[in-house]
Amino acid sequence: AWISSKPPLLRFLNACHVEFAPETSGAVADYIPELGKADPDHFGISLATLDGHVYEVGDTQIPFTIQSMSKPFVFALALDTLGAARVESVIGVEPSGDPFNSIRLNAENHPFNPMVNAGAIACSGLIHEAKGDAAFEYIRQALGRFAGRELDVDDAVYASESTTGDRNRAIGYLLRTNAVIRDNVAAVLEVYFRQCAILVTARDIAVMAATLANRGINPVTGEQVTSAYAISRTLSVMTSSGMYDYAGEWIYRIGIPAKSGVGGGILAALPARLGLGSYSPKLDKHGNSVRGIKVCEALSAHYDLHMLNRS
Ligand code: GLN
Repeated sequence: AWISSKPPLLRFLNACHVEFAPETSGAVADYIPELGKADPDHFGISLATLDGHVYEVGDTQIPFTIQSMSKPFVFALALDTLGAARVESVIGVEPSGDPFNSIRLNAENHPFNPMVNAGAIACSGLIHEAKGDAAFEYIRQALGRFAGRELDVDDAVYASESTTGDRNRAIGYLLRTNAVIRDNVAAVLEVYFRQCAILVTARDIAVMAATLANRGINPVTGEQVTSAYAISRTLSVMTSSGMYDYAGEWIYRIGIPAKSGVGGGILAALPARLGLGSYSPKLDKHGNSVRGIKVCEALSAHYDLHMLNRS
């Protein structure tokens, strides 16, 4: 009775929630100890359309850390803040085929792309170069404009990653010795760890994704958050590298630019159409949310959303 009176899209999202809730494979990330405390049962799906309507099913109001889903936004911000030439002089745009935390750089000793840790740390370094001590606050404010509300930080997750993040620190030093980072490595890493610990909900992610899908205009607030140029370049690297070493399979099967985070979020942005945010903390071996992938597969198939199948 509840469901028969609801819009078809909401009914479809609800059906996905019912179908995939019993899927309990995967594991909650615990290499950042604090992330291991997430409730593996949480499952939320939200979809925002470009007219500003937001659909929500399940645990869409539970806050979790944005983690790697911050990467596309900070890349877009770096393009607008420092200019494309500066950004592109130190960060590549080729898929790496490696896991997200790979320490391997490309033949020029630059990060392969801004969607893996090395490239994202380089982006945080560029923002730090431009904004100094105000870098993190500048990033937090910008992400808030994408979400349409002020976003907080999970201090416990931040502290947990900062205490244990030696691999990312090692990447930072490697970047500095190759002049990709020019500032103090520790300061840049603090910006990166803090940006990863920004708290979002599945609903926020849907609106942030819809802003990417809407050429940088938040469809709920109407604000132009970044330039259209930065958005198209960001969607490009999401298409080729957003799902790490699953990116090829992802774009082949699902065909929607996307980005995952080890907090359990997946963000998918279909240009001129919609933004999707899902939250479910159990991850597959690539670090992508198991249920989130299933939701995106089902959505793409049901509504025929593959980006290369347009008429
Ligand atoms: N903060 C995490 C890290 O750097 C982000 C990784 C991710 O979400 N894939 O390891």
